[in-house]
Amino acid sequence: MPVNPHFQGIRCVFLDRDGVLNRKAPEGEYIGRWSEFHLLPGVERAIAALNRSGRRVVVVSNQRGIALGHYTSGDVDALHARLREHLAAHGARIDAFYFCPHDLDECDCRKPKPGLFLEAFRDFPEASVENSVVVGDSLSDIEAARGLGMRSIFIEGDPETRKGGAEQAAGLADAVVASLEEAVALLD
Ligand SMILES: [Mg+2]
Ligand SMILES: [Zn+2]
Repeated sequence: MPVNPHFQGIRCVFLDRDGVLNRKAPEGEYIGRWSEFHLLPGVERAIAALNRSGRRVVVVSNQRGIALGHYTSGDVDALHARLREHLAAHGARIDAFYFCPHDLDECDCRKPKPGLFLEAFRDFPEASVENSVVVGDSLSDIEAARGLGMRSIFIEGDPETRKGGAEQAAGLADAVVASLEEAVALLD
């Protein structure tokens, strides 16, 4: 696949979690445990390819299920630790995880708000809005990217679990693909 001129110079790849790395829960259900976490096809390979290219791989995720009492921040940390182990066994690594534990309208970090990204930029000073791309399956991911002036790739989810706003997100994103593997191919 030819290099897409829209995606040259990318050094940092922000990945949404649910619907990008793993199968999304149906609306109103939440994923708080490894047993509920089902990786989508090709994800290990796609992340390993990003690692080999020397790019940062950072997960940014809204986890409102914590505010709603479905699981705790500790559960999310434990799930991410299991995910790291699983990826390591496949030669893949996520450099950092950031998540918003809050309910709607009570913080500056729930996407599309910029807080999680700003935290990552503080931790990874070589990353910037100019050299980053956001890969997400929700309008809030694409709006967060646009709000900060980052490029974005929308993953069109399964029609059964696709949220409202998918059409708008597809229109706002720099590219629309079916999977993380397709998104990564645009960068190579
Ligand atoms: Mg998502
Ligand atoms: Zn928050």
